Amino acid sequence: MTPTNVVVFGPTLSGKGTNAGILTKVFQTCAAISTGTVLRAQIDAGTVFGRIAEPVMRQAQLVSNGVTFGALFAEAKKPHVMGATLRVWDGVPREPDQVYLLMALLDVFDFGKVDAILRYDLPDEVVVARVIGRRECPNCGAKFNNATRPPKVVDVCDNCNTELRQRDDDTVENAKTKLRIYREQTVPALQLLREMTGAPLVEIDANRTIAEVGASTIKAVTPFIATNLI
Ligand SMILES: [Zn+2]
Repeated sequence: MTPTNVVVFGPTLSGKGTNAGILTKVFQTCAAISTGTVLRAQIDAGTVFGRIAEPVMRQAQLVSNGVTFGALFAEAKKPHVMGATLRVWDGVPREPDQVYLLMALLDVFDFGKVDAILRYDLPDEVVVARVIGRRECPNCGAKFNNATRPPKVVDVCDNCNTELRQRDDDTVENAKTKLRIYREQTVPALQLLREMTGAPLVEIDANRTIAEVGASTIKAVTPFIATNLI
């Protein structure tokens, strides 16, 4: 069976990770490889890659390609990624050189070609509102967002009544930095990936409910998947 690779693009908090997660639930043997998640796992594990990535990510800057792909190659070797027939790449390529590195990774592991590119579009002011609206419960880990999924009582956890916390790095300034990097480095990477692979681009309006965007995502990916996976 030919494996399928889908690469997702979009500014921070446009729902890439959420929708990659939806795809792993809908399609059997789907693996979502999220650079952010992979790097945060390296940070939590205290690896060399994690120690280098941590201060860079805290300042909303791009982690170097060597560290990013060191972590991604380690992730690619894991059984659930090796055994997947649908792979969703989230957060890579972040800049043009990563296009070549991603293609090398797909080739080395015999993962097949890039079949489709999804781009989640969200206005800048909505991105900023989502970044500064993000809240997390320090007690039970529940996640909320005042812009998309507010708690019933302001800044109080629905599950355990604990006061919600905002991450130090969820600032307007960091949101604007991420938007600038997205426009200056990631959008050119998307264009280069299209030129290199010829993969079709599917544009998704991310400024809708989670259910609506999820439905659009499933509809966009379905044509590229072998029917026995559905
Ligand atoms: Zn809680």
